[in-house]
Amino acid sequence: MDHATTTQAPVSNTTKHVTFRIWRQDGPDQQGHYDEFRIAYRPGANVVSCLMEIQRNPVTTDGRKVAPVIWDAACLEEVCGSCAMNINGRVRMACSALIDRLIGGGESIITLEPMKKFPVTRDLAVNRDRMFDALKRVKAWIPIDGTHNLGPGPRQSPADHSVMYKLSTCITCGSCLEACPQVTVDNDFMGAAAISQARLFNMNPTGKMNSEERVRGLMGPGGIQDCGKAQNCVKVCPKEIPLTTSIAVMNREVSKQIIKDIFFNQEGDKKATGGPG
Ligand code: SF4
Repeated sequence: MDHATTTQAPVSNTTKHVTFRIWRQDGPDQQGHYDEFRIAYRPGANVVSCLMEIQRNPVTTDGRKVAPVIWDAACLEEVCGSCAMNINGRVRMACSALIDRLIGGGESIITLEPMKKFPVTRDLAVNRDRMFDALKRVKAWIPIDGTHNLGPGPRQSPADHSVMYKLSTCITCGSCLEACPQVTVDNDFMGAAAISQARLFNMNPTGKMNSEERVRGLMGPGGIQDCGKAQNCVKVCPKEIPLTTSIAVMNREVSKQIIKDIFFNQEGDKKATGGPG
């Protein structure tokens, strides 16, 4: 990182400004520190637009020219899910975090930190492989047997459709994992997002054909049994997905599967021993 001292962009005494205290970290196993940057206040600005401004002139409040801040972003409209980070200690999407709502009157400090439940790749960018591994575990997709036109799919009731639509708005941002006390850096609890996606694909008329595989994906270490019902996930989800309902629904499905397994195993035992059937 270049720490050469340069002249900071002048900030007028009469200009309202905002100070950003930003976590800097060169790589996953590196020590981190905070850098402070001060920029002029602009009404209606969001955190991403301020990060862009800092990127254009990465000079700290004490006059050091440093490497530009790294963060993930793509759509800038809360669809891609990549800009989730801790903003003033709470996980949110940087694209929809408006400065006006984060600061009080006069000069204010906004602290930006990477999510802590995922390995930092650099500065505010994290590696969310953990989430994608969980989606693979629950087979959060519908297998198709070709790309040819299969005609219209099975009909869905409007009631089911409205539930499925809401579940389908998950943007894999990771906020629910970040807020969950059961998710830690050294365990493999899958978190609420994958559980909710298993519910979504099990509701789909075609997806139902693989529902048992998804339910089995929720079972075992790191699965739905590790949920501690803290309910933080539902409070931070930017898409307001009913995650606690999804967890309750899928818990019931797992319980049913466990009972089925016990029943069929007992049947198998009876046949094997010639006992009364
Ligand atoms: S369920 Fe909500 S908080 Fe969790 S990854 Fe999806 S959109 Fe983000």
